[in-house]
Amino acid sequence: MLRILPRWSIHPFAKTYVAGESVEETVLVVKKVNDLGFTCTLDILGEHVQSATEAENITREYCDLYDVIASENLDCNISIKLTHIGLSLDETIAVNNLERILKQVKKHNNFLRIDMENSPYTQDTINLYQDYVSDYPNMGIVLQAYLKRSLEDVRTLNGPGFNTRVCKGIYDEPETIAFKDRAAIQDNYFHITKEIISGNGFAAIATHDIPLIDRIEDWIESTQVPSDRFEFQVLYGVPMGGRLERLLDKGYTVRQYVPFGPEWFDYSLRRLKENPKIMSYVLGNLFKR
Ligand SMILES: Cc1cc2nc3c(=O)[nH]c(=O)nc-3n(C[C@H](O)[C@H](O)[C@H](O)COP(=O)(O)OP(=O)(O)OC[C@H]3O[C@@H](n4cnc5c(N)ncnc54)[C@H](O)[C@@H]3O)c2cc1C
Repeated sequence: MLRILPRWSIHPFAKTYVAGESVEETVLVVKKVNDLGFTCTLDILGEHVQSATEAENITREYCDLYDVIASENLDCNISIKLTHIGLSLDETIAVNNLERILKQVKKHNNFLRIDMENSPYTQDTINLYQDYVSDYPNMGIVLQAYLKRSLEDVRTLNGPGFNTRVCKGIYDEPETIAFKDRAAIQDNYFHITKEIISGNGFAAIATHDIPLIDRIEDWIESTQVPSDRFEFQVLYGVPMGGRLERLLDKGYTVRQYVPFGPEWFDYSLRRLKENPKIMSYVLGNLFKR
């Protein structure tokens, strides 16, 4: 049913979760979010480009975005998906594009996070991260708590300078490689986070799950983890009932993941699938019109 909804019916909903289509609109949103005390990460919406030219264009947009972040003095870094810069076409294309982006990261002393996609790309993503992190230490990856392998990945990769976002994981993975049970995913998330921080890595704790945030926060406070060893991350626009402001009040860093770009429609459908309660809002919008 989601697929047949007209674009205009999704648009008011999308505006909650997506900064806009253009860089100009996005800069205004980031400034507002920064003014509220949050840091940001920008993502140009899209994945799995269909041609080398498309991959190159996206790469150029990301390179330009680092210039904009610097010239507008934004408190902001960038997250990319490797299939958006060509990984699903040809690894060489993705490698060349990644290098171009990393040169911009170095030039501006900014940071690049490589999002984690579905399991066919897990090992390639980790390999590319390992190939480049010593030359470009301002980069990090993402590990997904639903993957059974992730705790072992932390043990392989961990140490000073290891910077990873921990998320539950958004793709539909088979039971052979992924936990399906909510409590098992939460437990694995907690153990992964503890393992990263205990092993001197930096954990970006990306979740809207309040009981999970409580559990991690209790552990952080009881073991007196210094606040420069972790940050909290959420998707822009997800209601958190004042919880983010309370984290800021404690002096913790909270980063909002701000997606933007012409591909807002597909992204918004994904958000709707995650939170079907909002569907009634979209349908209301449809009929009001
Ligand atoms: C900053 C950030 C970066 C991410 N990067 C990746 C990545 O690189 N790879 C990857 O596979 N996944 C990524 N994800 C997605 C993640 O894996 C989860 O699918 C998603 O965050 C939902 O899980 P949750 O931990 O919030 O818990 P859930 O148990 O799913 O949600 C907790 C509560 O938050 C609400 N909620 C969750 N998401 C939304 C939403 N979008 N809108 C409204 N309410 C919502 C739920 O309704 C529920 O009440 C990222 C998530 C965040 C926050």
